[in-house]
Amino acid sequence: MPVRDVVVVGAGVVGLAIARAYASDGREVTIVERHPSAGREQSTHNSGVVHSGALVRPGTLRAQLNVAGSRLLPREAAALGVATDRCGTLVVASRRSDLPRLSEYHAWASQNGVPDVRYLSADEAHEIEPHLGPCERALLAPTGGRVDAAELVRALDSDLARAGVERRFDFEVVRAGRAKDGWTLYSARGAVVEGRTVINSAGVGAGHLAEHLGAPGHRVYPCLGEYARVTGDRRNWVRTMIYGFPPSGYPGIGVHLTRTIAGDLLIGPTATYLDSPVAPALPITPLATFAELASAYVPGISERDLEVAAPGIRAKTVPPGSGEAFGEFEIVEEPPGSGAVHLFGIESPGLTASFAIARYVVDRWPADRP
Ligand SMILES: Cc1cc2nc3c(=O)[nH]c(=O)nc-3n(C[C@H](O)[C@H](O)[C@H](O)COP(=O)(O)OP(=O)(O)OC[C@H]3O[C@@H](n4cnc5c(N)ncnc54)[C@H](O)[C@@H]3O)c2cc1C
Repeated sequence: MPVRDVVVVGAGVVGLAIARAYASDGREVTIVERHPSAGREQSTHNSGVVHSGALVRPGTLRAQLNVAGSRLLPREAAALGVATDRCGTLVVASRRSDLPRLSEYHAWASQNGVPDVRYLSADEAHEIEPHLGPCERALLAPTGGRVDAAELVRALDSDLARAGVERRFDFEVVRAGRAKDGWTLYSARGAVVEGRTVINSAGVGAGHLAEHLGAPGHRVYPCLGEYARVTGDRRNWVRTMIYGFPPSGYPGIGVHLTRTIAGDLLIGPTATYLDSPVAPALPITPLATFAELASAYVPGISERDLEVAAPGIRAKTVPPGSGEAFGEFEIVEEPPGSGAVHLFGIESPGLTASFAIARYVVDRWPADRP
């Protein structure tokens, strides 16, 4: 069995982007995925927002890769024939008491080097979003945008196939062992692959996989994000993205309104920690709750306008009850010098950051041949 330079575990948008970056640097790459096709987990169950980087705590790797990714993604997507659209994102202070948090985001945006972020008066915000309700002041990030994440996954996967990268689906890594020169990975069905460098890009499965690769103690907490979709004409009531402020201690950025590139209007995602990375058979958030959350920003959206949309499950590293909205993107080689590189906590804005994460990984662990 030939030893590959790199084996990437997990064909989500991040694993695919990493495999593509290694292959374009001339490495022999295999990517393995437990499902029958690419991108069936977080990477196609998200809001499709290309985040500007204004809402991410400065000084973190998340912020650095978010801002770099928001520049890279539109370029790379265009090269793959996938459209993106910089429609801008709005954060709305609907009450006076929201103003201090709005100015905190303004400060974060400038520390993160997000271009052209500016305050809008209520009139200016209503010009962009005529159906917007009460607004004391808003923050516009014009570099925020959107992409069809499923289309991006398909394009990346096809690009890997064209480039001759080996893609092995239905390959769930259930065991790993040290080989003379790297690692041997075993699938649940008895298949084997060997690589000098292994990239653990397994999303919610990254903690378990790390244990097999000699890096125990990394827990990844699955956190459900449910959505409702606005049906009928009212889906045209929002043109861009409208964010607000979640209650303190909320494990995420808060439920927001997203007009997708396909023209849908989504309300969500909620944030509910799960015991296992499987979505409940039935939605747990009533449509009435989505209607209430949405009408705080766009009055008049009622339960009758809504239908349930597919949820996603985040791979969080902050435990339930921690009071932290987000953990850090942890990208580490562990054990040191082992050739096993792990990506933990690649939740939002991981789609935006995907190409920047890939560059970060390949620059630090180039997988040169001995
Ligand atoms: C509800 C929600 C909304 C979001 N909204 C946005 C947004 O608007 N903008 C944004 O930038 N980001 C957003 N994100 C985050 C973004 O979707 C993720 O950061 C990104 O998709 C992570 O990609 P990934 O490849 O790391 O993970 P995943 O897509 O989860 O891929 C991991 C892959 O690993 C595979 N795998 C796991 N274990 C094994 C194993 N043992 N063997 C083989 N394969 C395995 C899985 O099957 C999966 O395909 C959102 C996420 C969620 C859940």
